[in-house]
Amino acid sequence: MEGTVETHSIGPAAAIGRGLAAVARSGMNVLLPPHCLGCEMPVASTGTLCAQCWGRLKLIERPHCERLGTPFAYDLGEGALSAEAIADPPPFERLRAVAAYDDMARKLVHALKYGDRLDLARWMARWMARAGGDVVAGAGVIVPVPLHRRRLWTRRFNQSAALGLAISEAKGKPFAPTALRRIRPTRQQVGLSAKERADNVRGAFRVPEAEKIAVAGRRVLLVDDVYTTGATMKAATRALLRAGAEAVDAVVFARVVKG
Ligand SMILES: [Zn+2]
Repeated sequence: MEGTVETHSIGPAAAIGRGLAAVARSGMNVLLPPHCLGCEMPVASTGTLCAQCWGRLKLIERPHCERLGTPFAYDLGEGALSAEAIADPPPFERLRAVAAYDDMARKLVHALKYGDRLDLARWMARWMARAGGDVVAGAGVIVPVPLHRRRLWTRRFNQSAALGLAISEAKGKPFAPTALRRIRPTRQQVGLSAKERADNVRGAFRVPEAEKIAVAGRRVLLVDDVYTTGATMKAATRALLRAGAEAVDAVVFARVVKG
């Protein structure tokens, strides 16, 4: 949700173009050989990156902060925490991410968000399930970070829900796509300072009364495409904890890595 371009910055002509491209793709997938998700070069199998694009993706691997998943330059031993996790502990317990949010990761995230690429969601979800192996295994229920219904209406596709569904299918975990509701529209987080982002999403999420049964007493796995300052993830986590969730972990495809 965070760190993305504005939906309305893309004009109607572009939207129509995208729609036509999607129609063309759906009809032509069976005829055309599979293409790289990053650069459209032909590849051996559907849902893969060519060697060049794969090399450009900065995967996050251990050693990393046990809490925030921030990569460490040196192995500080099992369970080691970053200075940030100690100074400002997040409300969620553990965050995991596949890759650093750079050009290649941004390309994949945008292709998923604006391209209705369900094949991409499955591929990205596979990597998220791998990067978040420990948190996915312990999840009692998977909940995606929701869009406000007004934005969902203009976009018709919630990329976080697509990723959450794909992880739940791959790992046989319960999926609760409507457990978390965005109760007021928020500004896009792009261009806002960390404090403005936190103010922007404060109190923006709620678990409706009828959905509390889906999360109460459970370890929830929150799913989103990108983690930037964490303002969105932290606000969503607080709403789940208020609704009685036992604990919240989070997994994203890409996260901002400072430095
Ligand atoms: Zn490529």
